[in-house]
Amino acid sequence: MVQTNALHEDEGWVEAILAFIASPPKGTPDALLAQLADAVAGSHTSLPPRVFYEAVQQSAIAISITDPQAKILYANPAFTEITGYTLADVYGQNESILSDKRTPIHLYKEMWQALVDKNAWSGELINRRKNGECYLASLTIAPVVGAENEISHYLGIHRDISKQYRLSQKVKNQKNLIESVVDAAPVVMALLDEQGNVVQANQAYHKLDNEMVGSEPIKELWNDLLECDCCGTSTEKEIRFDPGGGRPARWFSCSCTKLEETDTSVDAFFETRTQNYCLLVAKEITDIKNEQESVRMNSLRALMAEEELVQSVRETLAGAVYQLQGPLNMVAAASNLIERKGKSVNLDGLRRVLRDAIGAGAHAMDTLSNCMPEIPSDAPGRINVNELLHEVLSLSTKPLLSAGVIVDWKPTAVLPPIVGREHSLRAMFKQLIDNAIDAMNDRACLNRDLSIRTALTEDGFIQVFIDDSGPGIDEKDRINVFQPFFSTKGVKGKRAGMGLTMVQDTVTQHAGIINISRSPEGGCRIELLLPLNVDSVGGDV
Ligand code: FAD
Repeated sequence: MVQTNALHEDEGWVEAILAFIASPPKGTPDALLAQLADAVAGSHTSLPPRVFYEAVQQSAIAISITDPQAKILYANPAFTEITGYTLADVYGQNESILSDKRTPIHLYKEMWQALVDKNAWSGELINRRKNGECYLASLTIAPVVGAENEISHYLGIHRDISKQYRLSQKVKNQKNLIESVVDAAPVVMALLDEQGNVVQANQAYHKLDNEMVGSEPIKELWNDLLECDCCGTSTEKEIRFDPGGGRPARWFSCSCTKLEETDTSVDAFFETRTQNYCLLVAKEITDIKNEQESVRMNSLRALMAEEELVQSVRETLAGAVYQLQGPLNMVAAASNLIERKGKSVNLDGLRRVLRDAIGAGAHAMDTLSNCMPEIPSDAPGRINVNELLHEVLSLSTKPLLSAGVIVDWKPTAVLPPIVGREHSLRAMFKQLIDNAIDAMNDRACLNRDLSIRTALTEDGFIQVFIDDSGPGIDEKDRINVFQPFFSTKGVKGKRAGMGLTMVQDTVTQHAGIINISRSPEGGCRIELLLPLNVDSVGGDV
């Protein structure tokens, strides 16, 4: 009885044995032939013996038959082709003639343990050809068991798998190499399948994953990118994401490349199928962004300081013109009186003096008006009020901190942009925040709270509430405060009461509304309503 548990897995080997027994080589023991014939007897025996013999002879797989001591009795031509040994070379030799001696001893021990237990054995070992060259053999040995249940022979079948091994090692090495390079890359990389699942990702990705609180970076960071149509193009997109846990926002420059992989399954052999992937690469640019932001904020600070200076010069000159207008009007009135009533008296000299005084006064006022510096005009654009307010709060950090003001900033989550003049709106918000700080400072308030809130009204207005905990504005003054040169406090060393006039002008330019009321903390509440849809934004006044 032949123990062919390995052989039965592949009917090809059975046919090879049948071919062998149909026309055995000279010297093959009759007992072996009888046992092999018993083992495979059945449907195949109807084939002519010549066919079986040719099958073994022409098999591309090396086949050998040994006695129980592994001494070779038969080897087919494929054996000769692979090993370089002819049957004559190896007849009567132990199969160990093929051993390269680098195969670990424990493997042979396991092999022989299986064989003496009358089980087939399969494994890989290093063999040496007749010319001394090594090759990797994939070997199967099956014991042939006699009528007395003793092992009479062994059947050995082996293939040279050196090429496949080299190829698989090469692929493995390349994979390791690519993975090491990708892992060492200082950018976040992730390969996504068509459903957006991460198939593979590098160390930088996993590091980012660990740093995220409660969500996967791919979901937070690249949702925008996946939704956009830039996959497959070299478009880079700067994406901001919030890592959570109160940590500052981070910026990544992201790109997305489409990749295709050919389906390796057997059923795709005649019909090439591909699987699409998306390689997402993200480089952290938070430092660059922070630097850019700090440069931008510094230049904004400088710009606003300059604008404030221009504004105060304008206010001073406007104040001088305003103050001069009164005496000049009086001189003009005196001159008119003299013209009408002093006809009988010769007052020509006085008339001349008064005319000259009026002319000089008018000239002085023209000169002052002409000296008024221009406020640079900015073109209307789309403005996000939340971002602008946040920026103004950042610009006001120093005065807010030094006044000990606690800021409660509550921007509404979704705020569509308005069409407006950025400089004017920024100056307006800055003025309102400065006013709140001044008011809380002036009255030495114990609680210094500033609350800024935005909302979107149902009738299409952006609503901004600026509440402070200062003394507030009396009801009787709530209209007057918008008049030029009106102030509820001493003007010494301060602006001459033009701030809210400027605020009113800006609100009017943007077709908006401003209301003053009492804040919940008992201070001043400024409510601004800026329409989302305006036909045009007025120029600077
Ligand atoms: P060995 O002294 O031959 O054997 C090492 C270990 O195996 C020892 O522990 C010993 O106890 C045990 N052992 C050896 N012979 C027997 C036995 N007859 N019964 C029980 N235990 C035994 N080896 C290859 O390297 N390459 C081949 O391609 C290859 N093909 C083979 C094909 C067949 C059909 C058979 C039966 C064996 C084959 N062998 C092959 C195994 C080979 O016979 C040697 O066992 C092996 O090469 C180790 O040789 P060695 O001289 O280093 O040690």
